Amino acid sequence: LLSKLKDKSLVTDKALVAGEWLAASESGRTFDVTNPVNGEALATLPNLTRAELTRAIDKAHEVQKAWAKKTGKERAAVLRKLYDLMVANADDLATILTMEMGKPLAEAKGEILYGAAYVEWFGEEAKRVYGDTIPGHQADKRIIVIRQPVGVVGAITPWNFPNAMLARKMAPALAVGCTMVSKPAAQTPLSALSLALLAERAGVPAGAFSVFTGTEASMVGKEFCENEKVRKLTFTGSTNVGRILMRQAADQIKKLGLELGGNAPFIVFDDADLDAAVEGAMVSKYRNAGQTCVCANRIYVQAGVYDAFAEKLAARVSAMKVGDGLEAGVNTGPMIDSNALAKVQEHVDDAVSKGAKIAVGGKQPDLGGLFYQPTILTGVTSDMMVAREETFGPVAPLFKFETEADVVEMANNTEFGLASYFYSKDVAKIFRVAEQLEYGMVGINTGLISTEVAPFGGIKQSGTGREGSKYGIDDYTELKYMCLGGI
Ligand code: ADP
Repeated sequence: LLSKLKDKSLVTDKALVAGEWLAASESGRTFDVTNPVNGEALATLPNLTRAELTRAIDKAHEVQKAWAKKTGKERAAVLRKLYDLMVANADDLATILTMEMGKPLAEAKGEILYGAAYVEWFGEEAKRVYGDTIPGHQADKRIIVIRQPVGVVGAITPWNFPNAMLARKMAPALAVGCTMVSKPAAQTPLSALSLALLAERAGVPAGAFSVFTGTEASMVGKEFCENEKVRKLTFTGSTNVGRILMRQAADQIKKLGLELGGNAPFIVFDDADLDAAVEGAMVSKYRNAGQTCVCANRIYVQAGVYDAFAEKLAARVSAMKVGDGLEAGVNTGPMIDSNALAKVQEHVDDAVSKGAKIAVGGKQPDLGGLFYQPTILTGVTSDMMVAREETFGPVAPLFKFETEADVVEMANNTEFGLASYFYSKDVAKIFRVAEQLEYGMVGINTGLISTEVAPFGGIKQSGTGREGSKYGIDDYTELKYMCLGGI
């Protein structure tokens, strides 16, 4: 890994706890970070204990008031510097990300710039954490509303976007004057640690941002929920774990931000621009080898264009190159681990056993390992696993539908409500369908909707809270109403 970097100091095998870089845990235990392409160990990190996590929280609590006392402009300057450092080091950060996570280098670089964009955005917003004045309800009263930071935030992030999922939590938290203790996924802590190295260089005060490394995720969730110094927990990951955390958070009525699973429908109407729809399906479905929570999971194609769409998509998907993300031309990396791979194969086998046809792919390529061929299934029906569960892999199941009413009903027939997509040129239909889709986000004639300037988040069992945009500030602040009397 080091030989591939311009700045070798961007990789560390130490955790950042309470402002100190820890080479070892008091437990003496360690864990390895491996490259999913070949299983090679990239780094050995301390496997930290609950006491070490508590220490990080104590320190975050101790330094939070001073950080909050700084002006928005002062905090903005630090975040601006962090943004500049992320951009300046984007190539190295992307290489680290690709090696620990597997996504193609170009996508990894895109993720770094996407993560950096949140840091830039929330740095700018730091100056605009506005309150309100409200006309008094009595002649001698004045009402003022201010926004204050919630305090110490615990963050738990997944492996599929090791940089951006953390950046878009730490940036708004630090912007408004919160401090943060983060726990990246054990598969991908190196990207989080690189971000912490840069944050330190940018002037984030010691202890205001910790990166806890370890494999005991449920212990971390418990500590965040049981420690009264932690005032908010923000989590991106599976709906199952989100449910556990929500239950655990109940005891202390802990403020929660949850970005959970999706089961995105991607609808192609007869009147769609088919080439654009194919393009949209490619990015929405196959980006990150299908391992994103906003990936198209169910592709509904209207009967009149079903065959034509399937053919055009098949031509594109057959040309995809699977392999090591560091290699030029590769656009599909490995699955993150063997469980993920097994789930993808299970979904394909289940669909085939119930009558679906494999148009492209459907198995592992000769490379073996954790790779899976980009796949298209046709003749897919609602009784198959792919209709209900998030596949989280490079498999596009194509369902055929007849009417607008049918497809809206099928699209909404899930407990999830994160992203949805559809293609049509009919303005009236665009409004009708967009308003009926029960999702937090709707991509219309586009397969790529993520940006720091818009509110990202889900409804139903896809979560609560929004990340990005002016609304993203709400999640890290509390409103305080002050009533002045005797005037
Ligand atoms: P994924 O399918 O993306 O791995 P998870 O929800 O399992 O989804 O993981 C997302 C993050 O949640 C990771 O950092 C993981 O370590 C953490 N995690 C897993 N189980 C728990 C738990 N019981 N409590 C808190 N965090 C957890």
